[in-house]
Amino acid sequence: MYDPQQFVARHVAGLPRSGIRDFFAIVSQMKDAISLGIGEPDFVTPWHIREAAIFALERGKTSYTDNRGLLRLRQVLADYIGKNFGMGYKPESEILVTVGVSEALDIALRAVINPGDKVLYHEPCYVSYHPSVTLVHGQAIPVATSAADDFALDPDKVIEAWEPGVKVLILNFPTNPTGGVTDRAKLEKLAKFVIEKDMLVISDEVYAELTYEGTHTSIASLPGMQERTIFLHGFSKAWAMTGFRLGFACGPAPLVEAMMKVHQYAMMCAPILSQEAGVEAITNGAESVAKMKDQYQRRRDYITRRFNEIGLKCHVPKGTFYAFPALPKGFSGTSMDFCQGLLKAEKVAVVPGTAFGRSGEGFFRASFSNSYEQLITATTAIERYVGSLKL
Ligand code: PMP
Repeated sequence: MYDPQQFVARHVAGLPRSGIRDFFAIVSQMKDAISLGIGEPDFVTPWHIREAAIFALERGKTSYTDNRGLLRLRQVLADYIGKNFGMGYKPESEILVTVGVSEALDIALRAVINPGDKVLYHEPCYVSYHPSVTLVHGQAIPVATSAADDFALDPDKVIEAWEPGVKVLILNFPTNPTGGVTDRAKLEKLAKFVIEKDMLVISDEVYAELTYEGTHTSIASLPGMQERTIFLHGFSKAWAMTGFRLGFACGPAPLVEAMMKVHQYAMMCAPILSQEAGVEAITNGAESVAKMKDQYQRRRDYITRRFNEIGLKCHVPKGTFYAFPALPKGFSGTSMDFCQGLLKAEKVAVVPGTAFGRSGEGFFRASFSNSYEQLITATTAIERYVGSLKL
């Protein structure tokens, strides 16, 4: 009998579906559930940025743009990255505007990975890293981070996990889902190893502005690293612009050129209205970003304090809008069991740590991109649930 499934490529058929999507399909069917599951800001895009998109539309900005993105946007980005991250990129040849960091990550991998090339990445991590490597016929090798280190990446673990054939190291600081960051000294050690083994770094820094402790350091800003790093960033998180689908990649001209070829054939360009809004966000968005960040920080302090009071051991995330507490001591089930139980008993949705890789077992992710009031209600419900477990 005819079966369309037979046409699905093997490496795609073998991909797991995102654990988050499956879980939240159940949540969306539930009435009055409180969700701490979402990976996006609860804020609407600041008005001045929305207005820039509206104004662009009024002016009839409805065309394609240069494949690399509006030159004006690349110019303001170069300036912004210079001032805030310390790297100098040429707008004409070293910056590519993309459809979110999602596209940037995909085309970075497509541009550099040959079948069988190995890619190191730290875990628990953003759900798309491993599948994105599989989709380009690469081999993804996880390096675990742990709660004992506040989920910073230990360079020695990377050195241990390295094997011949490793071409790329994917980094994401601050990290989704743990809120972990890795300090400058550790980054320097990592950079030394990356240079020694002649690797390339793909660094996803989409949460950089949402760093609450100290200042964010990009590995690309370290000596000898700008030329071997593809720096990825975007507007979704700090500027609350997920629906605009706007990101960018910066790196050495030959790599950006290679990525541009993939982007040109697959995507053509990022939407012009989003790019016009992006110019406004970068040029005049600092105050809006700071206001949202203050809110996140207040919520972070509250939710981590409450989790620890409840007996869910939780480090204070140094960045992002995610808390990543441990399951209560004595709970014998999996993180999925805990999350399903909580959802059933209290209609509060959090994400099992295993959605972010095997090393996420024993934890769950709770997003604090929710109102303070909702966080009070949710943590009270979680407290009731943990109490009911009689551990
Ligand atoms: N990287 C990380 C670490 C993320 O958490 C996300 C979104 N959840 C993305 C990339 C994708 O971002 P974008 O909306 O820019 O595609």
